[in-house]
Amino acid sequence: MPTKYVVVLGSLLSGLGKGVITSSILKLLDFYNYTALPTKFDGYLNYDCGTMNPYQHGEVYVLDDKSEVDMDFGIYERFLSKSLTGDLSITGGKLFGAIISKERQGGYLGETVQIIPHLTNEIIDRIEKLADSKRPDVLVIEVGGTVGDIENSYFIEAMRQLSLKHEVVFINLTYLPTLDVVGEQKTKPAQIGFRLLLQDGIRPNFVVCRMNSKLEESKREKLALFANMGKERIIDDPDQPTVYNLPLHFMEVGFDKLLIKDLGLKERAPSAKKVAAWRETVKKVINPKTQVNIAIVGKYTNLRDSYASVKEAITHAGARTSARPNITWIESSDFENEKADYSLLQKMDGIIVTGGFGSRGTEGMINIIKYARENKVPYLGICLGMQLMVVEYARNVAGLKGANSSEFDPMSKHKVIVLLDSQKQITDKGGTMRLGAQECILPEPDSIARKAYKSDTATERHRHRYEFNNHYAEVLEGSGLKITGLTTDKKLVEFVEWSKGGFGIGTQSHPELKSRFEEPAPLFVSLLEAAKEHCKD
Ligand code: GLN
Repeated sequence: MPTKYVVVLGSLLSGLGKGVITSSILKLLDFYNYTALPTKFDGYLNYDCGTMNPYQHGEVYVLDDKSEVDMDFGIYERFLSKSLTGDLSITGGKLFGAIISKERQGGYLGETVQIIPHLTNEIIDRIEKLADSKRPDVLVIEVGGTVGDIENSYFIEAMRQLSLKHEVVFINLTYLPTLDVVGEQKTKPAQIGFRLLLQDGIRPNFVVCRMNSKLEESKREKLALFANMGKERIIDDPDQPTVYNLPLHFMEVGFDKLLIKDLGLKERAPSAKKVAAWRETVKKVINPKTQVNIAIVGKYTNLRDSYASVKEAITHAGARTSARPNITWIESSDFENEKADYSLLQKMDGIIVTGGFGSRGTEGMINIIKYARENKVPYLGICLGMQLMVVEYARNVAGLKGANSSEFDPMSKHKVIVLLDSQKQITDKGGTMRLGAQECILPEPDSIARKAYKSDTATERHRHRYEFNNHYAEVLEGSGLKITGLTTDKKLVEFVEWSKGGFGIGTQSHPELKSRFEEPAPLFVSLLEAAKEHCKD
């Protein structure tokens, strides 16, 4: 059967959770054992997100194949439990780059190269190639941005044209505000958003309404009348106890059956086993047995999206260990002066220091790591959090005064973290870090790493330029820092652990990027288990 397409378009405002809706549709199709893959369109002219500040666009998500992609890929992978590939991310930058290089090579000789048809054809070609090479039953395409933006208008036009050639189901995600004063759900903005889509020549099959309460029946009827569709096609999407409940909610309201029918897929029953397993995990998130307090320490905490995968990895591990993680966000620069509130840390059962770039906030992170080590609060250091765990140990245990990473203090006497050899000649910034899935060995049988992975190897995703300086291995090991993971060629340090005292592990990788709802990341599970123990003390 040829691949069918679902196109998800957002109206009115961003932040409505288009990624979660797209992922829930993918999951619904997976419940029915249809193969479904996502594709994401982003209108910006960057080639990818690799060079963007997390404050602008949330976290940069890295795939196994080294692609640096939009954070929505994290949501897709977490729902689908599948590793995706970078070609599923189509950005304005990639498209314009390809068109210009084709034009220079004489690919359009004699023609005036235009948005329509050249750019739109390029989009349709890419989509058809994805369908041909990956052969999913359904390609679920999320169009980034909001209908009416200049940035995504060419994608929307390409999707209109795609629907002339193939089976395409359009989904309009919209927003229904409730005005506090009158306490009434308002449909007017949704009507206006819908009309904008009609102007673009697209008549959606479904309208999904994001709102904080349940959709009132009279409003459903009003919207259905306005949109000229059956009221069963107005799907409500109220706040969920957890985002992972959304596929189950969609099933309850019958969205699954209608969608499958519209796509012309063969009717079949959903896999009872898959649905039951998912429901069970959702229940564990909603009704945990215990609670633990976990601090996420970072330097971009004003925008929580900067650490979306870390937060989700904690949720997944919480479901696995039946513990509700109460998360406290800590901006590391708040711990750089006398105002630092250590009483906040006293309440914590686990501390995570996350990844980041540039020196701002790093001294605060070092102070927090010192607190965790000295007070035996379970600690997980991720990438920068591992590098600073080494710096803290060097300074405060090994007595290497002024130790630092050469990223933050190139004049430091003890550069315990240095630029990777492979990075020294690199001047380009895009896609040039040590990226993607990298295998490592875990030689220490007694280590936290070995126990967490239940294996003597681990494969995690990476995104960094600096590494542990092997010249300091002997002195640091001599003072009790354990090196428990190495690259397969044994050249780079991948994991370090505190040998004395409490649970403390740092990894050069980003284990959060491989954590899935139904397959939590091993290190996060270990951290939560240690946090549960700490909570009992
Ligand atoms: N800035 C550090 C490096 O490039 C850490 C990067 C990270 O945390 N992802 O090595």
